Amino acid sequence: MLQNLHTHSLFCDGADEPEEIIIRAIETGFDSVGFSSHAKSLVAEDFEIKDIAAYRDRINFLKEKYKGRLSVYLGTELDYFSAGVMDFDGFDYTIGSVHYDRLPDGTFIPFDGGLSDTVKYIREYYGGDGMKFAKSYYSYLAELALRFDFDIVGHFDLVTKNTEKCSSLFDTESREYRDAALSALHALREKRDLFEVNTGAISRGYKTKPYPAKFILEEMRRLGCRLVLTSDCHDKRYLDCGFDEAKEIIKSSGFDTLYYLTDGGFVGEKI
Ligand SMILES: [Zn+2]
Ligand SMILES: [Zn+2]
Repeated sequence: MLQNLHTHSLFCDGADEPEEIIIRAIETGFDSVGFSSHAKSLVAEDFEIKDIAAYRDRINFLKEKYKGRLSVYLGTELDYFSAGVMDFDGFDYTIGSVHYDRLPDGTFIPFDGGLSDTVKYIREYYGGDGMKFAKSYYSYLAELALRFDFDIVGHFDLVTKNTEKCSSLFDTESREYRDAALSALHALREKRDLFEVNTGAISRGYKTKPYPAKFILEEMRRLGCRLVLTSDCHDKRYLDCGFDEAKEIIKSSGFDTLYYLTDGGFVGEKI
């Protein structure tokens, strides 16, 4: 089965109309595609869905139009700060993600900014301590399942977006970093067991490997988590970007099954 449930279109910060993505998905051999436009949140970024009714109507229209050729699912990517801001009912699935820190003065700091911005944030707001920045990310992630209900945990270690290019931001090999990541995983696992392997930073040139890192995948395996594979696609050319490499990493981490959303819920299929 070939599916991507993490797809951004012109309804948020993606480059394409949903129908263009559907046509590309059919041409590429996908069985199904899910749209996951950024939900509204307290951060109130420009790219959040503005007109939720129009978004639902458009995706539901396309779902009917392409019935029998491609299964289309209506989803949304919720941010930690989406809690209480938007009604999540009526979606086929939801992704829960952490993207921002909120400082005591109310300023929101993205955990997935570009490298130069991230260097500046760490210097200005975290006393130059990159580990403090990383640990703040995981403290939000650990609490995510207590904030609201959702189906899939999004890009588990997003905070490592720039560490391949700049290893001095914080040491991802250190015990301190790994303990923070794994304790967030253990906390989340109490409530959720479905996580994504997300290749989005590969297509955008930030990383050569998907989220999450292998040591996290291995612990997910040990904890009996289930995985979906997505590309966090913002451009239809990258719908299946990095999928083959990601499957090899998933298998070498001990998994033999990936999960796919169907009309009857999530089902597993051997890789
Ligand atoms: Zn995200
Ligand atoms: Zn996304």
